[in-house]
Amino acid sequence: MIGCRCDVCRSTDPRDKRWRPSVFLRTDSGQSILIDSSADFRSQALQFDIERLDAVVFTHSHADHILGLDETRRYNVLQREAIPLYGDHRTIGDLRRVFDYAFGNSHAAHGYVPQLTPFVIGGPFTIGRDLITPVPIMHGTRPIYGYRVANFAYLTDCSLIPEASWPLLADLDLLVVGALRDREHPSHFTLEQAVDAARRSGAKRVLFTHMSHELGHVATCARLPTGMELAYDGLVVAL
Ligand SMILES: [Zn+2]
Ligand SMILES: [Zn+2]
Ligand SMILES: [Zn+2]
Repeated sequence: MIGCRCDVCRSTDPRDKRWRPSVFLRTDSGQSILIDSSADFRSQALQFDIERLDAVVFTHSHADHILGLDETRRYNVLQREAIPLYGDHRTIGDLRRVFDYAFGNSHAAHGYVPQLTPFVIGGPFTIGRDLITPVPIMHGTRPIYGYRVANFAYLTDCSLIPEASWPLLADLDLLVVGALRDREHPSHFTLEQAVDAARRSGAKRVLFTHMSHELGHVATCARLPTGMELAYDGLVVAL
């Protein structure tokens, strides 16, 4: 956290150095899918060698999850094609407003801007041959999406999982779920609430994400149940 001198912010453990939240998927059928273009996307793409981007899928339009979108213009050049974006109605509307310059009709007149093809989604859709299933969750008072791809689900920025969404979380090999801190927050799970949700899902493996500086990596992992850990930047999981 900017200007903070707490133990976690001063930690030398690289797992306590956290960029903004997102996840990058490479599927068996060869699709490279980014979930959320975080404010740190450029640094993340350079650090972790993201050479290709077939689509960006958005959970919601808060600044930490969208502000790296402009950087996708590099993939327009590398791939010579527009990048499809997927999100709910409100999120796509916000992207059009915030990145207004990228959605004009005349790219040439505006110079080097990202070429993006937005799709409003309200249910399962496909990217290439991969089925992507939105999982409706609540982020405070705002309904947003988590996503399921095969036996993996990503639910960041979650404060409640509605009853109707639980069947979408059955038989998971890996669940990634947001856990902000120990103290309650109006729009994020606490660590305890995230552990409860993870238990109820029955997922084989659980990783927590979107932690604040109140949760240090080593100390927090030491008090988590077996099969549950904090994720960290650059963590790679094969499924
Ligand atoms: Zn701190
Ligand atoms: Zn949010
Ligand atoms: Zn967030």
